[in-house]
Amino acid sequence: MEAARRKVVSGRYEHLFTPLDLGFTRLKNRVLMGSMHTGLEEAPDGFRRQAAYYAERARGGVGMIITGGIPPNPEAGGGGAILSNPQEASDHRIVTEAVHAADPDVKICLQILHTGPLARTPDCVAPSAIRSRIAAFTPRELDEEGIEKQISDFANCAAMARLAGYDGVEIIGSAGYLISTFLVERTNQRTDQWGGSYENRMRFAVEVVRRVREAVGPDFIVIFRIAAMDMLDGGMAWDEVVQLGKAVEAAGANIISTHFCWHEAQVPTIATMVPRAAFAGVTGRLRKALTVPLITSNRINMPDVAEAVLARGDADLISMARPMLADPDLVRKTLEGREDEINTCIACNQACLDHTFTGQTVSCLVNPRACRETELNYQPTDHSRRLAVVGAGPAGLAYATVAAERGHRVTLFDAASEIGGQFNLARRIPGKEEFDETLRYFRRRIEVLGIDLRLDTRVDAKSLQAEGFDHVVVATGIEPRTPDIDGIHHPKVVSYIDVIMGRASVGQSVAIMGAGGIGFDVAELITHKGTSAALDIDVFAREWGVDFANHPRGGVTGVVPMVATSGRDVTLMQRKSDAVGKSLGRTTGWTHRLTLQRRGVKMMNGVEYLKIDDAGLHVLIKGEPRLFEVDTVIVCAGQTPLRTLFDSLEAEHVPASLIGGAFEASELDAKRAINQASELAAQI
Ligand code: FAD
Ligand code: NAP
Ligand code: SF4
Repeated sequence: MEAARRKVVSGRYEHLFTPLDLGFTRLKNRVLMGSMHTGLEEAPDGFRRQAAYYAERARGGVGMIITGGIPPNPEAGGGGAILSNPQEASDHRIVTEAVHAADPDVKICLQILHTGPLARTPDCVAPSAIRSRIAAFTPRELDEEGIEKQISDFANCAAMARLAGYDGVEIIGSAGYLISTFLVERTNQRTDQWGGSYENRMRFAVEVVRRVREAVGPDFIVIFRIAAMDMLDGGMAWDEVVQLGKAVEAAGANIISTHFCWHEAQVPTIATMVPRAAFAGVTGRLRKALTVPLITSNRINMPDVAEAVLARGDADLISMARPMLADPDLVRKTLEGREDEINTCIACNQACLDHTFTGQTVSCLVNPRACRETELNYQPTDHSRRLAVVGAGPAGLAYATVAAERGHRVTLFDAASEIGGQFNLARRIPGKEEFDETLRYFRRRIEVLGIDLRLDTRVDAKSLQAEGFDHVVVATGIEPRTPDIDGIHHPKVVSYIDVIMGRASVGQSVAIMGAGGIGFDVAELITHKGTSAALDIDVFAREWGVDFANHPRGGVTGVVPMVATSGRDVTLMQRKSDAVGKSLGRTTGWTHRLTLQRRGVKMMNGVEYLKIDDAGLHVLIKGEPRLFEVDTVIVCAGQTPLRTLFDSLEAEHVPASLIGGAFEASELDAKRAINQASELAAQI
């Protein structure tokens, strides 16, 4: 039966599971784990932790792993790990040996990352002394000798990677890092052989590849990551991308990996509102012009999406980076016909990229074990207990499934008719459709683990006591806060829950009271018109000003974003004097702010609410009275814990613990809820 099932599955994923022959070596399938700097590279005991992290992904079936980026010299990074000598190479052996021991067929390549002008050091270097909008320092312009040193450091790093037992290297030639700044006129204003004409601007990239190949010999994987669409105004033209691809191919790259932005670009390329596989067609176009295998990436988070990209001939290999944080076993589950058990990356960036950009170790919202493989493990219990978990929101779901996985007998209650708690609100926001995947994952997990799920069941202390559970876990979530304002019960005042669930009618002019994550989501919902950009590549292209078909310079030059809007007049308000939206995610907040600004949403801080009456919302702004003559006031004023059940359990001396929003509602998000629940369930 299992053999027959496998056959069917590999038929369904025929392209995904076809090996790729590189002549001197073979990749066992078409899925690779894309490079992500996790912070483990610099962490105490980092090599052992990376070994566990990558080995788990190797066991999970991926064909090739690209490590987080490692600079070839100090000026390429800024105080972190580098790879430049045999001593450092011997540390890396801990990682390569662990991966090859986990599965000798899995290849692991080191990404050589020279961040150039984006390096976090005053010693950073670039072709010209031009400071990027997002850089900390103005780079030093490299002279001829300096250029030679950088090239030779790339080559040396590649040789050290070989010594360390890697199967190859990836050279990153995109994103606004050193190599890409040579390619583009706005960052390369040299007049010597490294600047001016495009042949000259390309010279550095080509020389790096040539010298790396020379240093490692023919039987070593060399991948070049190219900016196939850099999203820069005045960025690379399509014929320049093709010319570069051909030149690095000729210089010795055996695989080309397509990348789709510079970090300073103003188009989201991996956030949750980006359609799945949105950029794969660009790779497909480049693939037609080149002969080596092409890797595509960005928002490919499920095997059917990957298979479709390969079947269309858009790429030879699929890079999944964040999806491998979310589920290390994604490939194995696909091979075994268990796709419905995949814990899907929802592209929130909350625990991965947001952590990178705030100096924290990377993890994953839906999988808090990511990058914590040596410390957070769900070991089988030797004292199985009968547990009641009340509330099937993210906290209750995580607790119930981890506890059941460990061998506890779990009953999961929810008063609602479906699992998910507030995720059932989140998934209704345009751009957050991926949240459905998390609910599908938990639904399946509940079945697989045999959890006794009781929906439509509001429990109280008495009913729980009557069933004699060993322990009750209260995950009852939150109540929306009702601010104490004159007129708060006026008919024009509605709650965010009723708006999102479509139970309240919303007028033409609206004030949103509270500009946290939910205030922004509600503003998105009520100003949105038509199909969600996340579901339609043409809508996405129109809204963000991308021309996929004609590929003007950077894909964006001269293309004006055309935003559809419901036409509502909306003001988003908060009391704080901070910039509105400051609390949003580091790497995604700007996309939400920009979208709403383009739809004409007004944002106001320093607002003092006075009263609501038939005339509208009366406020003080910087001491000045003002009336917003609105039809509707939507309250998104935060939340308070819902802990009545816990209090009554305590009063009855029933052993109980509190998790998620019921424990602490302030600044609670799903990342914290799932993490806290998983950690506690790992211990009981
Ligand atoms: P909840 O999700 O509130 O779940 C509590 C559950 O308990 C409910 O299902 C309820 O029915 C049940 N319950 C309560 N009392 C009883 C009882 N007596 N008996 C039985 N069942 C009971 N977070 C993020 O991290 N990222 C986001 O992008 C994001 N977007 C959001 C968008 C919106 C519109 C909303 C509303 C929230 C969003 N959140 C987001 C927040 C996130 O959903 C919450 O932090 C998370 O759901 C809290 O989880 P929880 O399990 O503690 O509580
Ligand atoms: P929040 O982010 O804490 O925002 C609450 C808002 O209400 C703030 O603007 C706050 O600003 C205002 N407020 C607080 N008390 C008030 C009062 N008494 N009267 C009037 N206004 C008041 O909470 P949330 O928006 O409810 O979101 C809940 C959780 O879900 C948050 O932790 C959030 O991170 C998470 N979430 C995340 C996302 C995401 O995309 N990552 C999306 C949605 C929700 P002032 O006090 O300045 O007025
Ligand atoms: Fe994906 Fe969010 Fe996890 Fe990052 S934190 S890997 S974006 S699910």
